[in-house]
This record gives sequence, structure tokens and C-alpha cells, in this order.
Amino acid sequence: MTLRTRVLIVGGGPVGLTASALLSQQGIENVVVERRRNTIRAPAAHVLRPRTLEVFDRLGIGDEVRAAAPLSDLDFITWCATLGGTEAGRLDTRSDRLDWTHCPQNLLEPILQRHSESQTPARILRGVDWTDLEQDGDGVCATVQHDDGREERIEASWLLAADGAGSPVRRQLDIAMLGPGPQIRMWMVHFEADLRPLMEGRSGPLFWVLNPQAPGTFIVHDPARSIVFMTPHFGVENEEETISARLAAAIGADIELCIVSIDQWAMHVQVAERYREGRVFLIGDAAHRFPPSGGLGLNTGIADADFLVHQLTRVENDAADPVCLDAYERECRPCAETNAHESFENAKRLAEISTAIGPCPDLVTLETRLNSLSTEERKQLDQAIERQRSHFASHGRLPPDPRARPG
Ligand SMILES: Cc1cc2nc3c(=O)[nH]c(=O)nc-3n(C[C@H](O)[C@H](O)[C@H](O)COP(=O)(O)OP(=O)(O)OC[C@H]3O[C@@H](n4cnc5c(N)ncnc54)[C@H](O)[C@@H]3O)c2cc1C
Repeated sequence: MTLRTRVLIVGGGPVGLTASALLSQQGIENVVVERRRNTIRAPAAHVLRPRTLEVFDRLGIGDEVRAAAPLSDLDFITWCATLGGTEAGRLDTRSDRLDWTHCPQNLLEPILQRHSESQTPARILRGVDWTDLEQDGDGVCATVQHDDGREERIEASWLLAADGAGSPVRRQLDIAMLGPGPQIRMWMVHFEADLRPLMEGRSGPLFWVLNPQAPGTFIVHDPARSIVFMTPHFGVENEEETISARLAAAIGADIELCIVSIDQWAMHVQVAERYREGRVFLIGDAAHRFPPSGGLGLNTGIADADFLVHQLTRVENDAADPVCLDAYERECRPCAETNAHESFENAKRLAEISTAIGPCPDLVTLETRLNSLSTEERKQLDQAIERQRSHFASHGRLPPDPRARPG
């Protein structure tokens, strides 16, 4: 059986679904194949920048995304011994007027999914795995496998690989990722709890816990219910079994909680050596993988989709020569390089806070130290915290709005 379409999108994550919606808006028939039956369960990405919201506004879903964002108070970023313990300091971001929309990925993806599949030119096929690809000057022919084992061929003029950081399409095309490989492995623990009693007077989206036995970051998606704890791999045997104890040690207070999921990810700082192979384009995490410090991964991916779809639409409507598609790599790849670098610098700069506090082998020493800092030491620590400001205030680098350019 062969299905024919104009654009085939491999991967129905946020970037693939956005590309589909943008193509549909231009009346361009497209098919998305996504191997997962359901949208993502873990919150993962959560910071949406203004450019991303502009794209969603154009699609008519901006208000729905804003309404889904559970946390509106972004006043402080906090460093503490434990969530319920001594505070090392906080960054007051009120003067930066952070224009984030704090919408976790597990709430965003269903909105994108509903919108994309409601568009007539689009077909969103879930439970379908892309397996192979051939192309010539006229088009691409992909082989996909349905989760009931059925194989199908899909012919298209173009293929967008939005299949994430491990991108099977990128691997088949033998496109290398340039830049440092796994820097650190992390656990991502999604749990439900009511954290509001611990956050009184210092609410905000991010809490860095410095407890040497349980270091990590709390991402507060909804203080009454949904929180993620990210903590590094210690590389010990059966580590996953110790994660709930580590989470309790990081919270440092007696609260009821329920772990929803434990996932792992590795920090990369990489950009694909090229974004295009003939009629195939890499977009989103398939083209670049950043540390999450800075919240730029998804936002950069949405900008990729917006830029590329604009150029593809012009070509498909015979309004421009296919050579204009080269602008995609030329404009978007340098942005990814800058954002990869910036995100990595943000991650490295965080260590300045522990350095300012000095070595503390355990929680008791850390708490004692934080409670007995001299005026000069307090100043050093406050300055180290202040130096983190660009981490949160930067918008990263994004390609120019293609609609604003002549030609
Ligand atoms: C803890 C954490 C926090 C983050 N926070 C932020 C943030 O605040 N802001 C931000 O901008 N970014 C953030 N990111 C990064 C963000 O999650 C990613 O950049 C984003 O998910 C990339 O979207 P994507 O659609 O390109 O790829 P993905 O979300 O990875 O989607 C790819 C899809 O392709 C599918 N797929 C793969 N192979 C195949 C195949 N062979 N056939 C069919 N389907 C396939 C996968 O199932 C998946 O659904 C964070 C990441 C993490 C881990």
C-alpha cells in the first residue's frame, strides 16, 4: 500500500506537530508519523518564549496554551540546602519581567495534537514507526511500520525529520552531530505533591538544591500538584531504587508525594553538521541538542519549523525557486550553535554558587556554613547568584522572521 502526500513529517513531538499545523494553515497536505501512541507523559520542556507564542497565536492556539500554563508567578529563582531547609539565596527576576509562558510539554503536546489533527490537509498517524527512506530528485519514499506489524510506503515531495535527539532519520543519512557528547547523565523524576507550604514567600519555577547527598533542581510546574526533580547520575549500582530516598532528602521536609515517572536523559551540546540532505530536512532536536539550562531547545525547534515551512510553502506554491530552501540551514544553524553554547555556559556557570559556598561534605556542614557566612562571604555568594541572571533573562538567538524579509 502506498500513501501519497506533499510533506511527510517523521516525529509528532512539539516541533513535528507545529510544522504540520503551519503547513496545514497554508493548505499544504502533510502526514505525520509518530511511533508513540500517546503524547508525552512527563512535563520535560516548560519555558515558552514570546516567538514561540507568536507562532501559536498565528495558529490560533496561543490563548489555549497560555490558559494551560498553571504557574504565573515567576518572581524568584532560589538556591537552597533543601527545599524545606536553609536558603542560600535567590535571584529576584521581577525587574527582568520574564516573558515566559510556563507551559509544561505534557500539557502543550495534547493542544498541538488536537489542533493538528483537526486540520483537513493533515493526517497524524500514531503508533507508526518510520523505518527506511529513499529519495531522488523528484521526491522521497519512506517505509513505515504500524504497531500491528503492517508496513506501508509513503511518497512525498519533502520529508521533515522531527524525530528528536536520537533521530533515526539523521542516523540513516549519516549526518554527524558536532560538539561535546554526553556531558552528564540525569534522572528526571516527575512527582505529585502539594509543595505550597514549603514555598510560602518564595514562589517561583525553579529551586536548586545544594544538599551534597541529594543535589538537583526542582522544576515547579504546578506547586499544588506537578513537580519535576532533576538529579545527576551518581553511577552507583541499582541507583533507580534509591531515587525516592534522594528525592525525600532533597525536599528535606515531611510531605506526602507520589512518583509518577522516572526517566533518564544525557546532556549534549551538539548541532548537526548539516540540516539538509536532498529533500530531507532536520528540524528541532533532530538538528540540535542543548542542555536544558536556558530553556532554548523546544523554542529553537519551533523557530526552525516556522522558518522552514515558510520557505517550503513558497516553493510548493511556485512562488520561489527551490534554491531559497538553502536559507533554512544558513539562517537557523548558526542560531542553534549560539544557543548550544549559551545553554552550556549557563550550565557551567551554576557551579560558581557551590564554589562561593565552599566544600561541604554533608547537609549538616552545608546548613551550618550557610547560617554562618561572614559579610564578605555573603557578598561573594550573592554575586555568584547575580551572575546567573542571563541564564533566565536571555531569549537565545533565533532566525529572522522569514515573513519580514523581501524575496
Ligand atoms: C528536563 C528537560 C527540560 C527541558 N526544558 C525545556 C524548556 O524549558 N524549554 C525548551 O525550549 N526546551 C526544553 N527542553 C528541551 C525540549 O524538551 C526539546 O527540545 C523538545 O522536546 C524537542 O522537540 P522535538 O519535537 O524536536 O523532539 P521530541 O520532543 O523528542 O519529539 C520527537 C518525536 O519523534 C518520535 N520518533 C522518534 N523516532 C521515530 C520514528 N522512527 N518513527 C516515528 N516517530 C519517531 C518520538 O517518539 C518523539 O515523539 C527540555 C528538555 C528536558 C529533558
